[in-house]
Amino acid sequence: MPFDEQDRLQYANAVYRGIFLGGREGSFTLSELLRYGFEHRTGTVIKSGDVEAFIADLYTRRRKIGPHQAFETDLMDGRWFFMNQTVLPNGWILIVGTDITALKHNEKTLRQAAETDPLTGLANRRRMFSLLDRALARMATEPFCLALVDIDRFKGINDRFGHPAGDTVLKHFADRVRHRLGTAGSFGRIGGEEFILLLPGLDIGEAERRLHTLCADIPPLPLGSGRSSIVYTASAGLTAASASDSAEAIVHRADQALYLAKAAGRDRVTTLTRETELAGRIA
Ligand code: GH3
Ligand code: MG
Ligand code: MG
Repeated sequence: MPFDEQDRLQYANAVYRGIFLGGREGSFTLSELLRYGFEHRTGTVIKSGDVEAFIADLYTRRRKIGPHQAFETDLMDGRWFFMNQTVLPNGWILIVGTDITALKHNEKTLRQAAETDPLTGLANRRRMFSLLDRALARMATEPFCLALVDIDRFKGINDRFGHPAGDTVLKHFADRVRHRLGTAGSFGRIGGEEFILLLPGLDIGEAERRLHTLCADIPPLPLGSGRSSIVYTASAGLTAASASDSAEAIVHRADQALYLAKAAGRDRVTTLTRETELAGRIA
């Protein structure tokens, strides 16, 4: 679609007329099209909710940064377009758009798949460590606790009931914690029968109580059709993030706490703070 040197739309094919004109006939400037779209909830998505600011911002760049520009734009109807914009020597601007909605959906699906554990549907290791980095960056305004959670004697469950039953236990545990946690934190599977939990905005005492509601007194998992049920437990190592922590340091501390929980007999939550860790090292 070409705009003349006054930014008045000179031509638009049926697709663009549908998007930006909503079937209207007539001659419109770019600003008028954007205002019309904003009022009638069609055309380009304006996230800020302020169409005048959007137009003002656009005009700080339009015609000023070279003859060629390419950008992605999302539309109110959910479609995505890739726009190729050329400023012609006579001052007109020519925009050619390509519908990239299908590509965008693939991108989203791929991203979700890359961040999800296929067995349990929980966030995977990559996703959880990226959430941990974010939590550490926000540490000054929002303290958080971190726990490593590991199912006890899981190898024995596999040996006794078979690997598929072991998988069912993993799913059962994942569903239980996900359901009980709700939006109070982030829970993911980082490998095998090992999980990680981020609890923002809780002090260590509150985090410990929360962990008990997630990991203690797990009901037996019935195997169905008259077969026995699987009784299993989980152990957790809990720690609070402190200002000077790296991701590695905090996970290492939680891992030490988990080790202590296992050594003390399993089926429990053990807490290790930075202070007790330091004291332990000195002693
Ligand atoms: P502990 O109480 O000390 O944690 O003992 P454990 O038996 O739970 O720990 P260990 O690390 O010895 O064994 C973990 C087992 O988990 C070994 C491995 O075969 C099994 N495992 C790892 N991933 C999966 C999985 O995706 N499905 C199933 N069914 N088993 C898995
Ligand atoms: Mg285990
Ligand atoms: Mg383990």
